[in-house]
Amino acid sequence: MDDCIFCKIIKGEIPSYRLYEDEDFVAFLDIRPVNKGHCLLIPKQHYVRVTDMPDALLARELPLAKRIALAMIEATGIQDFDLLNTNGAPAGQVVFHHHMHIIPRRTGDGLTFKIDPIEYQEGEQEKLAEKVRNILK
Ligand code: 5GP
Ligand code: ZN
Repeated sequence: MDDCIFCKIIKGEIPSYRLYEDEDFVAFLDIRPVNKGHCLLIPKQHYVRVTDMPDALLARELPLAKRIALAMIEATGIQDFDLLNTNGAPAGQVVFHHHMHIIPRRTGDGLTFKIDPIEYQEGEQEKLAEKVRNILK
């Protein structure tokens, strides 16, 4: 993808503070960190959403995110973190190259996901759950 900022980072056309690289993945520090150590793990292949990724590649991603999180914990001394993946603009995705955020968290760091729960109508949850169960069969 010629106009993708993360593809450019992978190719070294845009500089980044790299943490990790192998044949399939790259990890680097986020340019606008919400906390020190905030970093991104991305596949070298351009996929937009997690649902676009082949299972075999995805199977490698979570253990790698865990490894990077453990290294960041050791390096920063911060034990807690969010593992966050946005899929689509309404979900907060700004860079449309699949990425996993690893965000060290401290008590009182001010980062919140404000949730105003929506309400289901009577019987709606039952219908939705049944529909999804049937699709998953
Ligand atoms: P999203 O909102 O799509 O889940 O997150 C995209 C992330 O990419 C943001 O946290 C943003 O700061 C980061 N980002 C965007 N452009 C660059 C860049 O050029 N370099 C680095 N290192 N991070 C970037
Ligand atoms: Zn890309």
